[in-house]
Amino acid sequence: MSVTVRWAPSPTGRIHLGNARPALLNWFFARRHGGRYVLRMDDTDLARSTRDFADGIEEDLSWLGVTPDLLVRQSERTDLYDTARDRLIAAGRLYPCYETEDELDRKRSRARLLGKPPIYDRAALELSAEDRARLEAEGRKPHWRFKLDGRPVQFDDVIKGPQTVNTASMSDPVLIRADGSYLYTLPSVVDDIDLGITHVIRGEDHVSNTGTQIEIFEALGGPVPTFGHHNLLTDAQGQGFSKRLGSQSVRDFREEGYEPLAIATVATLTGTSLPVEPYASLDAIAERLDFSMVSHGSARFDPAELDGLNAKLLHAMPYEEAAPRLSSMGLEGEAIWLLLRENLVKFPDIAEWSKILVGPMEPVIAPEDQDFLALAKALLPPEPWDETTWGHWTETLKTTTGRKGKALFLPLRMALTGRHDGPELKSLLVLLGRKACLDRLP
Ligand code: GLU
Repeated sequence: MSVTVRWAPSPTGRIHLGNARPALLNWFFARRHGGRYVLRMDDTDLARSTRDFADGIEEDLSWLGVTPDLLVRQSERTDLYDTARDRLIAAGRLYPCYETEDELDRKRSRARLLGKPPIYDRAALELSAEDRARLEAEGRKPHWRFKLDGRPVQFDDVIKGPQTVNTASMSDPVLIRADGSYLYTLPSVVDDIDLGITHVIRGEDHVSNTGTQIEIFEALGGPVPTFGHHNLLTDAQGQGFSKRLGSQSVRDFREEGYEPLAIATVATLTGTSLPVEPYASLDAIAERLDFSMVSHGSARFDPAELDGLNAKLLHAMPYEEAAPRLSSMGLEGEAIWLLLRENLVKFPDIAEWSKILVGPMEPVIAPEDQDFLALAKALLPPEPWDETTWGHWTETLKTTTGRKGKALFLPLRMALTGRHDGPELKSLLVLLGRKACLDRLP
C-alpha cells in the first residue's frame, strides 16, 4: 500500500517550532516514499479551536514549504465518529459513566491512600439500566469510556524500535465528554482508518495514547498503521514549547525575517545525527534523513545555531533568488547583493547595510584623522573605477603618510561607511563611485 501520512495539529494557537517538527518529519517521509500527505485539523475541541488558528496553520505550513494533498477538519466529520461510537457501544467497548469530576477526584485520592494506582475502578460497568435511568433523571449526563483489554500492547516503532504499552495500568479513557463532544482519541483513529493512513509519525508524548489507540483500531476492525514517535524539541532552556504561551511561533520567526528553510532545518534536524547545516531544499533533507537518525535523547533548540544557519543560507543565496525581495526594498543589481549578503544574519538586515550605499549615512570622522582624510580625498583616483582602485588608492596613501594597517584602513572605513565592520571596501568603493566618496570625506 502506498505511504499516506498525516499531520494533525489542534488549531488552538499558532504553531511553534516544536509543532513544525512532526509537520516536516511527516512531509520528508511522504516525499521519500512518493506518498500522500494529509493535513488534518484536530478541531473537535470547539471551545479552544478557531478557524483563524486553522487558517494560520495552513499559512505557516505553506511558508515552510509543505503542500498537503488533502485537508480535512474533524469538526466536519462528526457523522463518521457517531457511527464508530455506535459500533463500539454495540460491541460493549464503550460504556456510559456518571461520576462528576469531584467524585473521580475522591476516588483517585482514596486509591492513593490505599497505595493503589489511581486507575478508574469501572464502577459504571456495574450500573443496571434502572441505575442509569435514575442518574439521568437526576439530570446527570454520561461521559463515555472505552473498555480497554488491559494487556501489553506491542508495536514496532519506526523511530524508537519495539515498544510495549501495558494498558492494564491505565484508566479506561474517556472518548466522549458529558456534553457529547469527542475527545481527540476516537476521531483520530476513525480518521486514520478512513483516510488510509499507513504511518502515524508524532511526538513521543503520544506513546501511551498509541497503546490505547491500537486497541481502538482493533476494536473497529483496523487496519492498524505503523507508528513512529520522535523526540520532542524543547526551547533553549529545555522547556517544551507551548502554543498557549505563544512561545516562538513559526509566524514570529517569519516576521523576524528568518528563511523558511532555516526554520525547517533547525526544527527537524536538531536532535538527529544529520548535521544542522545548509541543504539545498526540503527534498535534499528528505533524501538524507532516515528515522534511524532521530536521537532517542532530547532535542534542544539553539537560537545561535539558527542564526548561524540562516546566515549561511543567505551568504550562499544566488542573486536570482534574492532579487524579488531586494527590489521590493528598492535595491537592484547583483553587485549590491554579492557585496552585502556576506554581512546578513537575517534578510531584513540588508535595510541597515544598504544605507551604506544609498544613504542616509553619517560619516564618522575623528578629529585626529581630519587631515589624513582630507589628503585621502585629494588623492582619490579619477574614474573609471574597478576592484583594483582601492588597492592603488590606499597604497598611495600608505607611501605618502607612512600610515599602515588599522591606522590606515579604519578611518577610511569609518568615513565611507560610518561603521567598524562591513562589506569589503574594494568592492564597496566601486559601487559607491567617486561622487559619493567625495561627499563623505572632509
Ligand atoms: N492533535 C494531536 C496533537 O496535536 C495529534 C496527535 C497525533 O498526531 O495523533 O497532539
